[in-house]
Amino acid sequence: MSLNPADLLTTLRHTVGTAHVLTDGDLSVYEQDWRRREHGRALAVVRPGSTDEVAAVVRACTAAGASIVPQGGNTGLAVGSVPDGSGTQVLLSLKRLDHVRAIDTANLTFTVEAGCILQNLQAAAQDAGFLFPLSLAAEGSCTIGGNLATNAGGTQVLRYGNARELCLGLEVVTPQGQVWEGLSGLRKDNTGYDLRDLFIGSEGTLGIITAATLKLYPQPAARLTAWAAVPSMAAAVDLLGLAQQRLAAGLTGFEVMNQFALSLVDKHYPQLRVPLWRDTPWCVLLENSDHESEAHARTQFEALLEAALEVGCVTDAVVAESLAQAKGLWHIRESIPLAQAEEGLNIKHDISLPVSRIPTFVAETDAALAQAIAGVRLVNFGHLGDGNLHYNVQAPEGGDAAQFLQREEDRINTLVFDHVARHGGSISAEHGIGSLKAAKLPHYKSPVALGLMRTIKQALDPQGLMNPGRVLAQRPAAAA
Ligand code: FAD
Repeated sequence: MSLNPADLLTTLRHTVGTAHVLTDGDLSVYEQDWRRREHGRALAVVRPGSTDEVAAVVRACTAAGASIVPQGGNTGLAVGSVPDGSGTQVLLSLKRLDHVRAIDTANLTFTVEAGCILQNLQAAAQDAGFLFPLSLAAEGSCTIGGNLATNAGGTQVLRYGNARELCLGLEVVTPQGQVWEGLSGLRKDNTGYDLRDLFIGSEGTLGIITAATLKLYPQPAARLTAWAAVPSMAAAVDLLGLAQQRLAAGLTGFEVMNQFALSLVDKHYPQLRVPLWRDTPWCVLLENSDHESEAHARTQFEALLEAALEVGCVTDAVVAESLAQAKGLWHIRESIPLAQAEEGLNIKHDISLPVSRIPTFVAETDAALAQAIAGVRLVNFGHLGDGNLHYNVQAPEGGDAAQFLQREEDRINTLVFDHVARHGGSISAEHGIGSLKAAKLPHYKSPVALGLMRTIKQALDPQGLMNPGRVLAQRPAAAA
């Protein structure tokens, strides 16, 4: 750091106000990641209230040589939003940038600030008579800035795409503290390199997203949810094919859950009353969004499930009778990560594969893990419609989970990722790389792609101050 930390703190207090530069007291809400994998220590938590203040904070940090960790809701699962333990990094919280700046109903867009909580944006869209379809279990706490920085997916990707597909324009503060005003609401703009796509998914390593222009959609007339017991993963894939054929764009959700994942929800949240899980290895949750009517959606859904029962890819099914029941079914699905956390520390794999390869991948990897680790427990669930599995490993029952992680995590990650690579998949579908997977990335990403990524990082952030060590692992000094 070239400027004395005390001088930097003085400048930061002058820039955003003393009340918004936090240095004392319990700051764990900012310094500890959601999964409790890391607890860092920041020089200060700085909470700017406008884009200009963000830019001024970045300029002050750059002048001081202090690195910056941007943070939204701190719900990320790849350890990317908390400071390291050095006590020298500035934690830049975007949560005070929480305004909807404009809604353009004819253009089907709204422009929002990065710190807006996702759930509030869904409500703002609904109040205006539209749908903002990005949806994930952390939506009550995560921010749209974090969603874009991680290119979040969630439960509606099958129909609407992930955060990248929902974003038309960005406002970004560069590592030099300049503001790039790219808040275009254009669906067509071929005027050179796509800077927006560069910042989306960059996990705070190239700049700070301060606002975005996002797509809105018409609200469907009805949304129906069904829950089906399926006899195998291959049957779940067959059901997906059948549902795509029969419902086409109406199929807005297709989630798969294994029996052990549902048993954890039943154990930790018995009040949720998980249906059908006891007698089947897998359950699937389907959502049908219909632009005609609820009656039309129900007829279509029932015909689909009848056909599925006939060919044997479904053994039993229920269709929610009310909105409350539908919400209850989604709540069960969304409680799996929480139930897993209640059960104890675990190893998460957020992987994607061609849908056609998933049954073989699961059979082979389950068998390899069972052979490698006696008593291993697999929590396997995810967005099957997008080829995205959360293929998570829970420590054997009764053992010391922390010790298990310390001893086995690297071996398990390598085993799972090698199988993913063999089947043409990706080691991160939607959670990002953070620092959790940064060391693994070079083993599974093309050296040419990594070289280009390093060139971009060097060009945009030559001082390496933006969220260092995330996505691209820092090289040892000798090799730098
Ligand atoms: P943070 O956790 O604060 O930050 C995440 C990353 O983005 C960090 O690298 C941070 O530095 C960077 N960042 C944050 N804000 C900015 C900004 N304004 N500018 C630049 N960089 C920034 N994710 C999915 O994709 N799909 C799911 O279905 C899903 N389900 C989840 C369920 C649960 C229960 C939980 C806890 C998490 C889930 N997640 C899921 C992961 C997480 O919610 C998402 O990654 C979310 O997009 C993170 O948003 P956030 O505001 O909390 O970001």
